[in-house]
Amino acid sequence: MTLSIALIAHDNKKDAIVALAREFAPFLRQCRLCATGTTGQRLIDEVGLNVECMLSGPMGGDLQIGARLATGEVDGIIFLRDPMTPQPHEPDINALVRACDVHDVPCATNLSTARLMLAQWQSGVWG
Ligand code: PGA
Repeated sequence: MTLSIALIAHDNKKDAIVALAREFAPFLRQCRLCATGTTGQRLIDEVGLNVECMLSGPMGGDLQIGARLATGEVDGIIFLRDPMTPQPHEPDINALVRACDVHDVPCATNLSTARLMLAQWQSGVWG
């Protein structure tokens, strides 16, 4: 089974998601990846991953990912949120996290949880 993972990082967390993706690049290359626009482009340019880019988060990218998740097309989300900066699309962010809870889809909102999730998936325990 090919895992489908969505990646999102707010601006202050983009360097962190790039570093995380580098760390897990061999595993992530085996997954189907999608991301919000700017995050995805950085993962393509700086890590060389194959990523389907949605709209940028503030333009509706989180909602696009949420819609996929609600129809069972996303197995998990790495969502590095910035807890210190108000976001214009806060309702979209809350909707996405809520959708994860509604559908019981793993959602890592900080680096430590993201590492745990990726390590677990990488070890093949998933599915
Ligand atoms: P971005 O969106 O990857 O397009 O910056 C992320 C966000 O801010 O929600």
